[in-house]
Amino acid sequence: MQLEKNNRRKSITTQAEFDFESLISKFEEEKKEDQKKLKNKIIPLVGIKNIGNSCYISASLQNLIHSFFGEKILKKDLQKDLQKDLQKEKVEIFVKFQQFLKKYSNQKDFSIISPKNLKEEMSKILLNLKLSQQEDSHEFLCFLLDRIDLELNPENQKNPSLVSKIFKGETIDEIKCLKCEKIFTKIQSFFTISIPFFKKTQKSKSSQDSIYKSQYSLFFGSSPYISSIQDCLSLFTEKEILDEKNLHFCEFCQKKTQSTKQTFFSKLPKILILHLKRFVVKTDQKSKRIHLEKIHLPIRFPIKNLSLEKFMKKENLENQSNYHYNLIGIINHYGGCFGGHYTANILQKETGKWINFDDDFINSIKIANPSRSAYLFFYQLQKKENEQEKERSF
Ligand SMILES: [Zn+2]
Repeated sequence: MQLEKNNRRKSITTQAEFDFESLISKFEEEKKEDQKKLKNKIIPLVGIKNIGNSCYISASLQNLIHSFFGEKILKKDLQKDLQKDLQKEKVEIFVKFQQFLKKYSNQKDFSIISPKNLKEEMSKILLNLKLSQQEDSHEFLCFLLDRIDLELNPENQKNPSLVSKIFKGETIDEIKCLKCEKIFTKIQSFFTISIPFFKKTQKSKSSQDSIYKSQYSLFFGSSPYISSIQDCLSLFTEKEILDEKNLHFCEFCQKKTQSTKQTFFSKLPKILILHLKRFVVKTDQKSKRIHLEKIHLPIRFPIKNLSLEKFMKKENLENQSNYHYNLIGIINHYGGCFGGHYTANILQKETGKWINFDDDFINSIKIANPSRSAYLFFYQLQKKENEQEKERSF
């Protein structure tokens, strides 16, 4: 490559002695070529140095950087927006994030960079916002996406930010009063969705389980009934009876009545971030003390074609061009509630390989499925041919 470039340069020099205009046009050509290359630039595989409790940041960043959100952020020309209505001091996290991405994308494969500046800037703001210091990857992602969304779109609505265009989805809660049978709806938007861990028992086993039983009982102990992401989504969208603590005030009955609640997806995002609730708050029956527990059970997940059709509100299905997702990344959590380690697994789209990022260590892997450590899933909506054009325009 370098040789080719040198040869090209040499030929330019030779020509320049005779033809100045030709030299100019050659330079122009070269510039165009460079720009073209930049447009289709492959994001390198770069390790992120652990600067002390920073693996939760690294695992989140790797997933964002290697998704098409990363590409869009790299190309976003803030100057254009700044001239319009954004003030520079109000987009500090976006600017730091973009600077980090630019630095990252200019590294060579398997080199290492430090997240120090980015972490310091974010810590300042985290502290100001008095957010919890739990150092959880999910919390960090929520903070980062919320913050960038707010910075890029301070006035909200009308012109959605890059974050909203890619990660924003909607759910609809249907609350039905069991007395008057009226239905109340509530729409909520999300950047990530937290789903409960469905613990499969013998009762709820599927036909496939016998196959998995023999295959996985060796690795996964006495419980061969492995839950899937679809099981967890089913539980998330299951109708529940609201308990006494959460009784709904019915406007028609003019009092708190017994009611049911069911949640559906009403709008799907381009990238769906599923947060598996492996950490649950438990109350000790005797002492009534509250403590946090981690579910270490394995989870099975589709790599391709996760369909959200049956978890959607029927009326909203036709507005949705597609509801099939492919997996593009995972954040793993190893360890317990107090102390643990995060890593990222990412699908490199140019090679189709799965890459493991463990702080500054990078290797190619065969993805573990089912997995005891998979904690956050990044699913990308499948595109239809005509949509790919549209995609390029924002
Ligand atoms: Zn009622």
